[in-house]
Amino acid sequence: MSSDPEPDKKGSYPFLQPLVTRAFGLRIALWYATLFIVGSVAIVVLTYVLTATSLAQRDRQLINQKLGDYAAAYRRGGLDQLAETVGAEQRTAPERLFVRVVDRGSEAIVWSNAEGWNPAQLETGSLRLADGTLVQVGKSTEAREDLLARFRAVLGIVTLSIVAIALTGGFLVTRSAVVPIRRLTQAVRRIIRTGRTDARVPLPPGSRSGDDAIDELTTLFNAMLDKIEGLVTAMRASLDNVSHDLRTPLTHLRGAAEMALAGPPDVDRYREALADCVEEADRVLVMLNTLMDISEAESGAMQLQREPVVLSEVVDRAVDLYRDVADAKGVTLKGDAGSPEGRNSVVSGDRTRVEQVAANLIDNAIKYTPGGGTVEVAIERDGPNATITVRDTGAGIPASELPRIWDRLFRGDASRSERGLGLGLSLVKAIVEAHGGTVGVTSDPGKGSVFSVSLPLIPQSLN
Ligand code: ADP
Repeated sequence: MSSDPEPDKKGSYPFLQPLVTRAFGLRIALWYATLFIVGSVAIVVLTYVLTATSLAQRDRQLINQKLGDYAAAYRRGGLDQLAETVGAEQRTAPERLFVRVVDRGSEAIVWSNAEGWNPAQLETGSLRLADGTLVQVGKSTEAREDLLARFRAVLGIVTLSIVAIALTGGFLVTRSAVVPIRRLTQAVRRIIRTGRTDARVPLPPGSRSGDDAIDELTTLFNAMLDKIEGLVTAMRASLDNVSHDLRTPLTHLRGAAEMALAGPPDVDRYREALADCVEEADRVLVMLNTLMDISEAESGAMQLQREPVVLSEVVDRAVDLYRDVADAKGVTLKGDAGSPEGRNSVVSGDRTRVEQVAANLIDNAIKYTPGGGTVEVAIERDGPNATITVRDTGAGIPASELPRIWDRLFRGDASRSERGLGLGLSLVKAIVEAHGGTVGVTSDPGKGSVFSVSLPLIPQSLN
């Protein structure tokens, strides 16, 4: 039997969410408090050790100094002088020392505080004089131990206060750090629950993006929602357009079949109706295939049979293909413009797809240029890229339509009378970008348009 919590219908674990955020906050608080406490306790212990060592050192210095004094007194006036110095000090010094002078044998000859001489409670030092006499000085550690005991008690209280401050501080600091995360989580949960991509996470008043990491995350999250919303809207619009554009040929198809069935049986009429049906079905198929090609190219799923492609060969083929169409319309089609090195450019690409790009641009240029006009195709070098430009002297594109011409199923107002699906330029853009290239357009309404396609050259052809 599994003890794992059950997800709700949407696959999330709603009751776990606050726990997770809380556990996260608690973990940060504990980390913060632990680091603070360990740091502070280390400082306290260090202070204690340093104080204890320096007190012991001071005692030792004092003892050594006294030993020197007594040795000097002994040298000056022998045992009497030493006994006198010790006696005088015992009367005047604020801190009484224990002094013992032992003869060459083991007999003590000078004593001060003989009854208190207990090496366990004394810090002692000894010096053997030139004639073998041993001078010993002891200093009681009682006062020092007393001071250190009081110091330990104070440090204990300080440590407890540090623990209390660290825990409270850690809790407060983490709470204020976790609040924006919690706000972000709540907003995300709300968006998932309602499916409303137009909701945004509010930034705290007065804060600007980039002020801190959470504000930046919030801004990025909102920007991501903008992008998702844009994509969803574009997909909806695309779907609407597809449905709308599919309806016309399907209605024609149905109408043709219905008409044929309505009348008396007649083979010729049936043939004609079936031919109409095939034509409309072809139109639907072309549209669906092109839409799928665009999707594949955009998603990177398009299989590109890459090979070195000489651009002039591709352009010449496309120009040859459209020569008759241009002649029939009275449009002059020039296909060999551009610089010699431009025409020698070699790119790594799928020959058929690159040809499709050139053909679509030339097809559009002829389609939207009235008789008597000119369409000129050129290839130029542009740094590490080669650029194919298709220049026409047609009607041009209004500035309001210019940003939308690369959208799927978009058709300019003036172009409704021409054949077309509004998919040609979307396919061009998708194929060029799948090759790592870029597309561009400039247009002067009334004078003509220039479409350009840049593709990266293969390194060998760069020089
Ligand atoms: P279609 O040509 O089938 O309408 P495209 O995707 O090829 O679809 O082009 C989209 C729109 O861009 C056209 O409807 C037209 O308004 C505009 N357009 C494209 N090429 C040209 C051109 N050379 N001159 C003027 N308008 C153009």
